Amino acid sequence: MLTINNVTKCFDQTEALKDVSITIPGGTCYGLVGPNGAGKSTLIKIITSIIRNYEGKIEFNEKRITDKSKQKLGYVPQDIVLEEDISAASNLQLFGRLYNLKGSQLNQRIKEVLGLIGLSERSKDKVFTFSGGMKRRLNIGCALMHNPNLIIMDEPTVGIDPQSRKYIFQMIGELKAGGKTVVYASHYMEEIEKLCDYVAFLDRGKMIENGAISELLQQYAVPSIYIKANGIPQKKLEQYGTVSQEKDAFLIYTEEPLPSMENIISYCRENNVDVERLELVRPRLEDVFFRLTGSNLRD
Ligand code: ADP
Ligand code: MG
Repeated sequence: MLTINNVTKCFDQTEALKDVSITIPGGTCYGLVGPNGAGKSTLIKIITSIIRNYEGKIEFNEKRITDKSKQKLGYVPQDIVLEEDISAASNLQLFGRLYNLKGSQLNQRIKEVLGLIGLSERSKDKVFTFSGGMKRRLNIGCALMHNPNLIIMDEPTVGIDPQSRKYIFQMIGELKAGGKTVVYASHYMEEIEKLCDYVAFLDRGKMIENGAISELLQQYAVPSIYIKANGIPQKKLEQYGTVSQEKDAFLIYTEEPLPSMENIISYCRENNVDVERLELVRPRLEDVFFRLTGSNLRD
């Protein structure tokens, strides 16, 4: 378990983090989400002791993070850190040695990690020949060499191809299945929703809400019905909930989506309304953030 207690960090004029407290249960995937500049990377750098000067307290399994407990922690930085002129395997070897792996144990681990990141076939190729997504995967692999219990990833999918994204998601699934704790920072809300069990929303240095994603969706987001139909009066739809116009369609926010939908269908049938599209829209994490901040994720 990782606990972040009342962490505040200032850079000259900027208050990057303001009294942030989050508890990350072991064995979960925990999302840190927020727009650029929210403070995600600063928080991660504090957890990984890259930033040592801050107010507050961070504990891992109820103890302050020391150089020894850091051995159990893997950090994937936002910016890729690799040696471009050597092979993928040699990069992994370098990182493995930093964590005191040697000999057959090291070679065995290189093989395992190459498999995990889907780069076994490119292991001997120099990194400068890799695509952005492959470099990202290798960057993650480097952080996994010492088989850490806690893996912290900072925006690992920015600017990558869909195949690499798929590999990364799969890899996180395997880490979770192996009982590891994953902290995943991203400004892609749909990724967090797909991968994580818990989330903390950061906005301008403040932690504005956190909890189990399923519970936050229940608490803050209202399901809606999307309808695109020729000649259906907005007034009619307002019977069922709050209506907002979406181009030439409507969104109806309602606590009772299914009965409302049935009524709308009957109405359309009886009045010969030509329906082009009618669907139930599940609430998304994006909606929760919108409810909390009154804005979409700014970029
Ligand atoms: P995020 O990762 O969510 O995009 P950051 O943690 O990188 O956010 O940044 C939070 C705020 O702190 C921003 O306003 C950023 O400009 C500022 N900041 C981050 N690092 C530094 C630094 N080394 N010096 C000065 N300001 C910084
Ligand atoms: Mg960042």
